[in-house]
Amino acid sequence: MITVDEALAHLFSLVSPLDTEEVPLQQASGRVMATCAVARRDQPPFAASAMDGYAVAADAAQPGARFTVIGEAAAGHAFGGQVGAGHAVRIFTGAPVPAGTDHVVIQEDVIRAGDTITLGETLDDKSHVRPAGGDFRVGDRIDAPRVLGPADIALLASMNIPTVTVRRKPRVALISTGDELVMPGDTPAPDQIIASNTFGLKAMLDGIGAEARILPIARDTRASLIAAFDLARGADLVITIGGASVGDHDLVGVVAAELGMERAFYKVRMRPGKPLMAGRMGDAAMIGLPGNPVSAMVCGKVFVAPVVRALLGLGEHRAPRLTARLAHDRPAGGPREHYRRARLDDGVIAPDNRQDSSLLSVLAGANALMIRPADDGPRKAQDMIDYLPL
Ligand code: AMP
Ligand code: MG
Repeated sequence: MITVDEALAHLFSLVSPLDTEEVPLQQASGRVMATCAVARRDQPPFAASAMDGYAVAADAAQPGARFTVIGEAAAGHAFGGQVGAGHAVRIFTGAPVPAGTDHVVIQEDVIRAGDTITLGETLDDKSHVRPAGGDFRVGDRIDAPRVLGPADIALLASMNIPTVTVRRKPRVALISTGDELVMPGDTPAPDQIIASNTFGLKAMLDGIGAEARILPIARDTRASLIAAFDLARGADLVITIGGASVGDHDLVGVVAAELGMERAFYKVRMRPGKPLMAGRMGDAAMIGLPGNPVSAMVCGKVFVAPVVRALLGLGEHRAPRLTARLAHDRPAGGPREHYRRARLDDGVIAPDNRQDSSLLSVLAGANALMIRPADDGPRKAQDMIDYLPL
C-alpha cells in the first residue's frame, strides 16, 4: 500500500494545467488568473485632494494666514489656472490639486467670509494630498497564478484592465454507484438510502473553482457503469464513489479497466479512505473514491481538491495544513495516516469520540481533520499537531 504523499504524487502525474480563456472582470471572481496583469495607468493619475477644504501652497499654510479664493476644483472638474501667492482654491475629495498648490487645509480649519478665508490657529501637519501614482504606477504587475478575490477585481478595474486571462474551470463528473442509492427528494425503498457524497463533493469542488456535474446514479451492473462513464465524456476529471472495494458488487475497477483505464494505484495507507484508486482514462484523470460518506469527503479534501488546484495551474501541493495544541493525551497511532474528525476551539484541538466513517453528522459538526502520521507515537496534551481546517 502506498502512502498519502505517494498517492498524491501519482495523482499529480495524471494531470497538467488546463488551457486558458478570457473573461470580463464581472465574471472573474474566484477564477485563477493565469497571466500577469499589468497596470495601464498611474493611480491616482494626478496629485489628488484627500479631503474637502482649500488648496494652497504648503509654505503659506500658517496659522492665521489669509487667502483669496479664486476658483473651485471638484472630482472630475479640475481647476485649470495657476494659483499664485495669497490665493487659494476651494477643493473637494478626489479633485486634482491645482498648479501652484501642494497642500489642502481641511475646511474645519478655515473661516470663510465672502471670497476670503482665514486659517485657524491650530492646523494639522498633514498635506491631505494623495501623490500621483501613490497606489500604483503604469507597468506595476499583479503576479499569476492568483485566485482572484473581490479586492483583486477592484484593483484590476482600477488598472483599467477590463478582461483577464483565467484557467478554464476543471470539468468534474461525479458518479455515485450502488443499487441502494436514490437521489435526494426521491422516495427510497425500505432497503435504500439517499446519495449524499456527490452533493458534498460538488459543493467542495465548485467552491474551489471547478465545474462539477452530478451524473445519474450508476447501478451495480456493468451496463449501468458503462453508461455512466459514457455520460462522463468531456470531463477533465471523472470521480466515482463507492464500488471500489473487493465485494461481489464492487465493479468500478473492473469496468474502468475494461474501458481502458490505466491504473496508477489502488489502496492508500490512510484512515479513512483506504480503497482509493486512480488512473488515466482517455483524456481524463479518473479517481475512484470509497463509498462511505466521510471517507469520500476526506479523500475529496486530501486528494481531489489538490488535483483540481493542479488543473487550475496553482501548482502541485498537498492540502495546506495548520497546527494546533492537543486538548488531551493520545495513545500511539496505527500504521495508517489517520484523519480524525475534530473540534478546534481557541487553537486547541480534540477529536470526536465517534469516528465511524459513515457518520456525516459528526463530520458536519467538526471544523477540523486532526492528522496523525502513520506509526505515530503517543502524544501528550499541549503537543502541537497537524490538522486540515474544514
Ligand atoms: P461501497 O464502497 O460501494 O461498498 O459503499 C460503502 C458504503 O458507502 C455503503 O454503506 C454505501 O451504501 C455507502 N455509499 C456509497 N456511495 C454512497 C453515496 N454516493 N452516498 C451515500 N452513501 C454512499
Ligand atoms: Mg456500493
